[in-house]
Amino acid sequence: MRRISVFGATGSIGESTFDLLMRQGGAEAFDIVALSGGANVARLAEQAIALRADLAVTAYDACLPALREALAGTGIEAAAGPQALIEAAERPADWVMSAIVGAAGLAPGFRALAQGATLALANKESLVTAGPLLLAEAARHGARILPVDSEHSAVFQALVGEDMAAVERIIITASGGAFRNWPLEKLAHATVAEASSHPNWAMGQRITIDSASMFNKALEVIETKEYFRVDPDMIEVLVHPESLVHALVGFNDGALMAHLGAPDMRHAIGYALNWPARRALPVKRLDLAEIGSLTFRAPDLTRFPALRLAREVMAIGGTAGAAFNAAKEAALDAFIAGKIGFLDMARLVETVLAQMSSRQGLGNAAVSLDNVMLTDAEARALAFEHISTGRI
Ligand code: NAD
Ligand code: MG
Repeated sequence: MRRISVFGATGSIGESTFDLLMRQGGAEAFDIVALSGGANVARLAEQAIALRADLAVTAYDACLPALREALAGTGIEAAAGPQALIEAAERPADWVMSAIVGAAGLAPGFRALAQGATLALANKESLVTAGPLLLAEAARHGARILPVDSEHSAVFQALVGEDMAAVERIIITASGGAFRNWPLEKLAHATVAEASSHPNWAMGQRITIDSASMFNKALEVIETKEYFRVDPDMIEVLVHPESLVHALVGFNDGALMAHLGAPDMRHAIGYALNWPARRALPVKRLDLAEIGSLTFRAPDLTRFPALRLAREVMAIGGTAGAAFNAAKEAALDAFIAGKIGFLDMARLVETVLAQMSSRQGLGNAAVSLDNVMLTDAEARALAFEHISTGRI
């Protein structure tokens, strides 16, 4: 039986993964090694019991007693904290879903690769902060990383049987998020509630707000560069409000291979779960005659500076991705807490990136786990300083 672990099992991607595991036979079909979650221990315990997992881990020490209680008498082990997450990732498994949100997802995924597991990677922050490190670790241990972001899964599928040398460009689409039609003046006053509602996708709150600011697409451009190892100039972003074409790959003979599908992450997750085979998945089939037309337009870099910043990050290289992501996470925390405005997020990230790249030569830093963690901590501290002094 295939041994499976799911990190971030109680989140949006985690629940979709759980749904597919249950539909594909649950505890009868898979040997579930570990499931992890956050404060929602009741749900984590429910999932662990349903899948007869060996171990359930909550990210928070304070939640351990409640998790223990919820699992009492089941024989399922309970653990808590970042170190327990790492130990869970070190338990031998064949397929590991990385679906923790934020840079906190990096370490468990890295450990899963070190024991040779196939890593289904939803946690894009891992590639943004430590792409070269992750790919080298996978190569060293003969492990494989399968993309679970919808755009990257789409590109991956369009590349099956193709030669990378024939690829001219990779186009990832963006719905444009909640504010795609908002004028700049109005964006300054956008509220957390307004930014937390996505027109097409049901996702966790953080990635939904990142979609509204286009920081999600900025992370995905960097993710594309890191995962497919292409020149940044080959990567394009196209606004496609319907979210049905997820990505396109352009070849040197002029062909464009597009991947279409319903906006349902169970497609990308299921593809990674069953790869290299395809299995029937519970996603809506598209009726193109009914849909009638698909629209596309160029992104607006004035209203959404995040995309321009992604280009800067790729040009700097080194640990710039770690600084960018951490500053973005700190800015997002501050926006959610009502401390800064919607447009301040990009301003703050730009300020931190500029300060760090001039002061410490981010571009020359080796991408080691230690350097990535240090850069991450420094960027958060700088962002915090700006937020608390109100100088953004
Ligand atoms: P979510 O907020 O719904 O779930 C996050 C999960 O991580 C939860 O289980 C939570 O308990 C856990 N978690 C949160 N902080 C943690 C911490 N510090 N330490 C350990 N665990 C922690 O997020 P999501 O929308 O499912 O996204 C998960 C990842 O997948 C993100 O990296 C996101 O960018 C990526 N992703 C999500 C979607 C989507 O449709 N939701 C699509 C593409 C990529
Ligand atoms: Mg995506």
